[in-house]
Amino acid sequence: MTQIPHPAGPCRPIGRHEPFSFACHREVACFTRCCHELELALTPYDILRLRQGTGLSSAEVLARYVIIEQEADDIFPRMYLTMVDDGAASCVFLGSQGCSIYRHRPGACRMYPLGRATMKTGENLEEHFVLLHEPHCLGFGQPLLTSVHAYLQSQELPPYNRFNDLLAQITQHDRIRHGLRLSESQRRAFILALYDLDTFRATLLNGEITDAPDDHSALAHDDEALLEFGLRWIAGLLFAP
Ligand code: SF4
Ligand code: SF4
Repeated sequence: MTQIPHPAGPCRPIGRHEPFSFACHREVACFTRCCHELELALTPYDILRLRQGTGLSSAEVLARYVIIEQEADDIFPRMYLTMVDDGAASCVFLGSQGCSIYRHRPGACRMYPLGRATMKTGENLEEHFVLLHEPHCLGFGQPLLTSVHAYLQSQELPPYNRFNDLLAQITQHDRIRHGLRLSESQRRAFILALYDLDTFRATLLNGEITDAPDDHSALAHDDEALLEFGLRWIAGLLFAP
C-alpha cells in the first residue's frame, strides 16, 4: 500500500526518527492550497471514516463522493475522492473554513508532506517514508521541529496505517505477485467487504456470508471489527488453498 501523492517538487527518503521542520495551520498563507487538483486515493479505512464523518451510509458515501476506477491492467479496483468542477478542481469536502470533515479526513491528507510505502518481504511488511517538498507548501517555513514518528502520532495515523498494512497483505500477496487475478464475483466481494461496510454488515447479519463467525454481536456494532473481518474474509476468498 502506497500513500505517496504525485509530487510537484523534490522528494527524498526520510527515516522514522529523522527530524524535520514543518507545521500546517490556518495562519499559513497557503492554507487549503493543497486541497485542489488531487488524485486522492482512498483506502477502506478512509471510507469507514468518511462514513462516520458524514453520517451517511457507506453506499451513499460511495455514490456521492467516490470515483471507482479499474484500468485493464489494474488487479484491484481503485477508489478516488471526487474533486468538484468549480474551475479549481477543489476537493468535495473543502469549505470556506477549510476541511469540512477534518476529524475524519483521509490518511493521505494527514500524512502530507510525508509519503509512506510498504513492501512485503516474506511474512513481514517493511515501511519506507519520503518527505515531499513542494514549492506551494509553506509549512516548511514554520519553526515546529518534529520527526516522522512524532508526526504520525500527531496526525492520528496509526489506525490508518494498521488497516493499510492489513490490505497490503492482500494486494502484495505472493499469489497476486505470481499472477492470480480476481474473477468478477471476487471483485464485487472485494468492493462489498472493504468499501461498502453497511451493505456487507446487512449481508452478514442475514446469514449470506460463508465463514462468518457464529457470534456476530461485535460485527453488528463495531465498524473496525467488521472491516478487520472483511479483510480476513477476502483473503480467505482469494487465497484459500
Ligand atoms: S479531505 Fe479535507 S484535507 Fe483532504 S483534500 Fe479534502 S478538504 Fe483537503
Ligand atoms: S500547502 Fe502545506 S502548509 Fe499549506 S495548507 Fe497544505 S499542507 Fe498546510
